[in-house]
Amino acid sequence: MRKIRRRCKNPDCREWFNPAFQNQQWCSAECGTVIALAKREKDRQKAKQEAERRRREETQQEKRHTKIRKLALKPDSYFKKQAQQAFNQFIRLRDHDQPCISCGETNPPDLHGGQWDCGHFKTVGGFPELRFEERNAYRQCKSCNAGSAKHGAKAATVAQQYEANLVERYGQALVDWLNGPHEMPHYRRDDFIRIRDEYRAKCRKLTKLMEAA
Ligand SMILES: [Zn+2]
Ligand SMILES: [Zn+2]
Repeated sequence: MRKIRRRCKNPDCREWFNPAFQNQQWCSAECGTVIALAKREKDRQKAKQEAERRRREETQQEKRHTKIRKLALKPDSYFKKQAQQAFNQFIRLRDHDQPCISCGETNPPDLHGGQWDCGHFKTVGGFPELRFEERNAYRQCKSCNAGSAKHGAKAATVAQQYEANLVERYGQALVDWLNGPHEMPHYRRDDFIRIRDEYRAKCRKLTKLMEAA
């Protein structure tokens, strides 16, 4: 029988040897011990990493569950607010190249930080049935939006300008429709969440399109 020579698997030895049995990886009992200890250490490390991974996964899951529990405790108004914020953000993005729907300024004075608002023609407070109606909301400068929230001459002017510009941009029919009666949708928690997610997605899509342009 031909003798097969092997090299010892102990990295500090690597001597050639004649194995006495199949699968013998070491030249001596000492090297056998070194290899066995190395393997045990490797297995120990592996088990440690696996335990660490499992612990991290459990922590993450616990965090997810905590988040779900916390959200379950939130009132419906929390999601209503999120939905309105997402809708308003969409309107500002949609009208990003439009002047203020009321005063017509494209570059309004920096009175309120130079930011734009989403202004509802029929106010959210007075006509909540149109709070998520895209035809009822347009980009408005902060000054006009703040003015329309007040009572008196300024609010009346802003509203008049708003209506006149709506007629000019989209026609009398739209204004008549907006002024007409509308069914009151009975939004529930799930509706607010759905609307929020829809408008967040629309915002992402618009932002991408604008960045690509
Ligand atoms: Zn050896
Ligand atoms: Zn304005």
